[in-house]
Amino acid sequence: MTEPEEPVEVGLYGVTKRFGDTVAVDDVTITVGRGEFFSMLGPSGCGKTTSLRMIAGFEEPDRGRVELTGRDIVGVPPYKRNVNTVFQSYALFPHLTVADNVAFGLRRKKVSKSAVRDRVKRYLDLVQLNGYDDRRPSQLSGGQQQRVALARALVNEPAVLLLDEPLGALDLKLRKQMQLELMRIQREVGVTFVYVTHDQEEALVMSDRLAVMSQGRVEQVGFPEDIYERPATRFVAGFIGTSNIIEAAVTGRVGEFLQVEAAPGDRLLVPAPTDRSVSPGDRVSFTVRPEKLRVVAESDVVADRLCTVSGTVVDVVYQGVSTQLVIRTDAGTTLVVFRQNSERVSDAGVPGTRARIVWDPELNVVLANEADLEKELTA
Ligand code: ATP
Repeated sequence: MTEPEEPVEVGLYGVTKRFGDTVAVDDVTITVGRGEFFSMLGPSGCGKTTSLRMIAGFEEPDRGRVELTGRDIVGVPPYKRNVNTVFQSYALFPHLTVADNVAFGLRRKKVSKSAVRDRVKRYLDLVQLNGYDDRRPSQLSGGQQQRVALARALVNEPAVLLLDEPLGALDLKLRKQMQLELMRIQREVGVTFVYVTHDQEEALVMSDRLAVMSQGRVEQVGFPEDIYERPATRFVAGFIGTSNIIEAAVTGRVGEFLQVEAAPGDRLLVPAPTDRSVSPGDRVSFTVRPEKLRVVAESDVVADRLCTVSGTVVDVVYQGVSTQLVIRTDAGTTLVVFRQNSERVSDAGVPGTRARIVWDPELNVVLANEADLEKELTA
């Protein structure tokens, strides 16, 4: 688990939250550094919104500690926490103008009239809505309404902005545009962002670091490259992008690598795990991304240091930039290979033909042993 840069702005430490029999958040520890753009990513129901709501103060944990800037905030009511939340539904006041929506929180805090005017202008400029002051939310597009919601939250200058699927209601094109906008705004104001999404691409593009969650637990915390290139668990490998998972038996060791076999004739090497000992006969699961694999003719000579398995092409899907080949290996595993169409492709591979897949063993990532994880969970 990667650690944030100091100082830590938001900390969840061993936090558990139940609703009746449902354990929504199960012993979660997450720390977010000041000024960081941190995302919680996972499928529906994995506990990300509940985690966010505990930072906001809308829910209290059953167990564990929630800290803001080093102070335990469990029991502190939401309005006394130096955080603001932006929701997917925008939650704007329909009868107020844009400027009054943004000014709302400041007026309640009895900020002077001229200071309110200055700050509203500054934050409407920030979200590029100058000139929209007098419109009502119903006269704005979805993207513009979300900008108002952002300005309304940021104008309070909170230490932390919590964002719960804020782009969920926007169409894809606008969503991509707003992703870039949000990143710019976050960099400009330097506020710590904790961002909840189920969209893996969004989380990878926007975040400094992210936590991948499943069933109330954190599966992995890391930089986007770590999560994509070195998924720690089967869940992360499967949830983020397309991945190939190969099950094999350990047959020996070559330096830093384990020699493993899925079917006779395979040549498979995987980096030996450093956190556990593995002996011949043990089974390991490892993953390798489709774009790391190359398909060659079965008769091609392959260097000894490379991994190679043989199989039969079952599907070829031309996708413009790349072609996706689906290959059934002789061990019965289905592997996906992305081939960049960087040259004019004449032979795209034909279903039914034999093929050999070749790749660098360094690119294999051994996954956490599920039996160990199970032990850890029940301990
Ligand atoms: P989504 O993306 O669908 O919002 P999520 O990852 O944010 O999902 P949570 O909303 O945190 O997930 O919910 C986690 C689990 O807790 C789910 O099983 C959900 O049904 C349950 N849950 C959440 N809030 C409540 C509540 N107030 N009462 C009962 N169960 C709840």
